[in-house]
Amino acid sequence: MQDKHMLMIPGPTPVPESVLLAMAKHPIGHRSGDFSQIIGEITENLKWLHQTQNDVLMLTTSGTGAMEAGIINFLSAGDRVLVGNNGKFGERWGKISRAFGLEVEEITAEWGKPLDPEAFKTKLEADTDKSIKAVIITHSETSTGVLNDLQTINSYVKAHGEALIMVDAVTSLGAVNVPMDEWGLDMVASGSQKGYMIPPGLGFVAVGPKAWKAYETATLPKFYLDLGAYKKATDKSSSPFTPPVNLMYGLQVALEMMKAEGLEAMFTRHQRLTQATRAAVKGLGLSPFAADEVASYAVTAVMPSTVEAEAIRSTMKKEFDIALAGGQDHLKGKIFRIGHLGFVSERDVLTAIAALEATLQKLGHQGATSGAGIAAASQVFKS
Ligand SMILES: *Cc1c(COP(=O)(O)O)cnc(C)c1O
Repeated sequence: MQDKHMLMIPGPTPVPESVLLAMAKHPIGHRSGDFSQIIGEITENLKWLHQTQNDVLMLTTSGTGAMEAGIINFLSAGDRVLVGNNGKFGERWGKISRAFGLEVEEITAEWGKPLDPEAFKTKLEADTDKSIKAVIITHSETSTGVLNDLQTINSYVKAHGEALIMVDAVTSLGAVNVPMDEWGLDMVASGSQKGYMIPPGLGFVAVGPKAWKAYETATLPKFYLDLGAYKKATDKSSSPFTPPVNLMYGLQVALEMMKAEGLEAMFTRHQRLTQATRAAVKGLGLSPFAADEVASYAVTAVMPSTVEAEAIRSTMKKEFDIALAGGQDHLKGKIFRIGHLGFVSERDVLTAIAALEATLQKLGHQGATSGAGIAAASQVFKS
C-alpha cells in the first residue's frame, strides 16, 4: 500500500509531518536577514540540545563529515590518539584518523561488548610525558546496539589532563544524556538523520574551549571543513557557504518539538522504547545482542538462532512494509537491528513487535506463546 512504509532503522529515522511540511517551502536567500534570524534561533536551540554554552556548528555533510571535521581541526599529522573500537563506527574513527596520518592506538572490544574504561585508564596513566593528544570514541555503537561508558572513560581523560575527548554522539544525542559542558566534552559530532528527526544532509560539531585552543596549533590541511570559518559565520548568525536552507526549515521545527517535549522526557521515552523492545524480543524467544546494562537507547540488535536474520528482514518488508536494519561486516546475515531513535512512539514499537511476531510465526519460529512479545512490551509501557 502506498505511503505505509515504516522506518524502524537507526537512520534515516522517521520525520514528523510538521517537519516535512516546513521543508516544502521555497528556499530564501541564505544571506537574507530572515534566514539569519533562523540560523540564530537554530543555533541557540542546538546549544540547548547539547547542554552547552559553547559552539555548535552546522555543516552540509553526513555524520561522517562531522567526524572528519572533528579530527582535522584539532589535531596534526603524527599526533598520538587513543581510539575506541568495538564496532563499525569505532572502526571508522580509526580509519579517518589513519587517513590523516595520526598515530593510532586502538582499544578494542568484541562487537556486541562495551569498551572497557579501565583499558583507557591504563594507557592514560602510563602516558606520563603526555603524548596522547586525544581519546576518540563512539558513544552509542549503532552497528551492535551497545552504549559505551563515556562518562567513566571521560573521567580518566580528565585525570590525564592534556588529551582531548572527542565523541561520536550520532545515535546518543537526544536519546540519552550527553551533557557537554558538565562532562567537559571537547568535541561532539552528530548527524541530522538520527536523533534530530530530519532527513540526512546536516552534520553538527560542538566545540569546547580546549578544542579551540588545540585548533590554534593544529596543522592538518582543511578548507571546506575549517571550523574556524564556521564559528566566525555562526557568531554572526550566518554560514560560510550555502547551507541546506530547506533542511534548516525542518530543523527549526524539529528543535521546537524537542524543546516542547523537554530533554528529560526525551531520554525517558527512549529508555522506555528500549526496555519494551528488549523485553518483547526476549518474550518472543530471541536474544538481544548486547547485554541489558550496556543497551543503546537508539537501536536494539538481535541475533536469532532458529530463523535467518535476513529472512526476518525480508518478510517484515514484504508483508508489513516495515524496514529493519541488517548486520554489518561479519555480522551481516547474523543479526537484525530495530531502530527506536527520534520520532518514535510506544505505538510504533507495539506495531513493529506485533509484525515481528507474525513474521516469526510465518517463518516457523518455535519457542514463544502467541502474543508474548506484545505482552512483554505492554508490561513495560504499563508503568
Ligand atoms: C549513522 C552514524 C554515523 C554517521 O554516518 P553517516 O552515514 O556519515 O551519516 C556515525 N556514527 C554513528 C554511531 C552512526 O550511527
